[in-house]
Amino acid sequence: MILHIDMDAFFASVEQRDRPELRGKCVVVGGSSERGVVTTASYEARRYGVRSAMPMFEARRRCPHAIIVPGRMHRYKAVSRQIMDQLRAFTPLVEPVSIDEAYLDISGGKRLFGPPEQIARSIKHRVMQATGLTCSIGVAPLRFLAKIASDMEKPDGLTIISQAAVPAFIDRLPVGKIPGVGKVTHEKLARMNLITLGDVRQYPPDLLVNRLGKFGHRLVALARGEDPTPVTPSSDVKSVSSENTLSRDTRDAALLHTILRHHAEDVGRQLRRHHLKARTVTLKIKHADFQQVTRSKTVTRPIQSAESIFKLAEDLLDQYSLTRKVRLIGVGASHFITADTPIQMDLFGDTVEGSKNWEKVDHTVDAINEKFGRGFISKASLVPPGKKTEPDSRE
Ligand SMILES: [Mg+2]
Repeated sequence: MILHIDMDAFFASVEQRDRPELRGKCVVVGGSSERGVVTTASYEARRYGVRSAMPMFEARRRCPHAIIVPGRMHRYKAVSRQIMDQLRAFTPLVEPVSIDEAYLDISGGKRLFGPPEQIARSIKHRVMQATGLTCSIGVAPLRFLAKIASDMEKPDGLTIISQAAVPAFIDRLPVGKIPGVGKVTHEKLARMNLITLGDVRQYPPDLLVNRLGKFGHRLVALARGEDPTPVTPSSDVKSVSSENTLSRDTRDAALLHTILRHHAEDVGRQLRRHHLKARTVTLKIKHADFQQVTRSKTVTRPIQSAESIFKLAEDLLDQYSLTRKVRLIGVGASHFITADTPIQMDLFGDTVEGSKNWEKVDHTVDAINEKFGRGFISKASLVPPGKKTEPDSRE
C-alpha cells in the first residue's frame, strides 16, 4: 500500500501557527510587489477564490482585506524536516516529493503499526503533535491513486481506496484528476471523447499512443491499474557538501584543520537529516589563483558521523602538500546508502567509523540545535584555536 501525505495550505498554516493574530484570517503568502504571485492562501482566503499561482493583484481584488505575508522559506524547510522525521518513524521508505508532500510505502508496516487506516491516523496524530499542523492523507494500492485520494477531502482529510475498490474507482475517474494531465492533454482527451479513465481503458491503446506519444503509454498502464513507480527514499540527494571561501588566503594547516572540522560537522548533519550514509568523502581546495583541486577517499563501510567524515577529510588534507595558499576549502560526501539499510559484516576491518557513540553524540547535538537554534551547542573541538584547549585536536 502507498500512502500520500500533503500538508494543508502549508505555508499559510505555518504563518497562522507562528502568529496567533493571523488565525481565522485571510492570509496570503507570496510576493506583494506588482508582479507578485500567490504561493499559498489560507482556507479563509480560498473562500474568496484566492488560489496558488494567481497574480497578487488578482488575489487583492478578490479578497481586499487579505493579509499578505512574504514567505519565510527557511522556516518552512525546518518544519518540513520535522514532518519528514515523523514519517520516517513509520518506514524508511519515505519519498519527499516537495516541501510539504511525501509518498510512503507502508506495505511492511502492518505488524508494527496496524492496518493502513490506523497507520494514516497515527501519522496525522504525530504530525499534529510535532508541528500543530493538519495534513491530508490518501492511501491506495497504486501510487497515482494515493495522490488523488489525498486531495479528495482536504483539509484534514483521510481517504482510503482499498484493493477491491480500485477497478470501479479507475473506471469513474475523470482524466483531469490524473497527475500529469495538464490543460492541453485534457483538451485532447476531451476531443477524443475520453472523459474517464474507464473510457481510456476501452480505447484502442495504439491509437492513444499515436495521438499522445509517451504519455499515452502511461495512461494505458494507469487505466489497467498498473503504476509501477516505486517509493524511492531521498532519490534527489546525490551528494552533500559544505565549503567556504576564507576571509583571507592561508597556508596555516592548523586553521585549515579547524575549518575542515566545521565542514565535517555540517556534512554529517546533512547526512543524518536525509537518513543517508556515505562511502566517499571528498576534500575540495581552491587556491588563490583559482585553481581547484579535489581529493577523494572511498571506504568499505558507509559512514555518517562528523568524526568519521573529519578523519577522512583530514587524512586527505595531510596527504596534500600545501605549497600554495588556499582560498576556499570544503568537504563533500557521496556514494550513498540509506542509513536504515542493514550493513554487511565488515570484512576488511575498516575502523574508520570509530563507534556508534559518535553518531549518538551527533544525534543529540542535532536535536538540541533543532530546538534552540543552530550553534546553540557544538562539540568542544569546534571552538577556534586559542580560545579553549582542544582535548582531541591534532593541531
Ligand atoms: Mg500541500
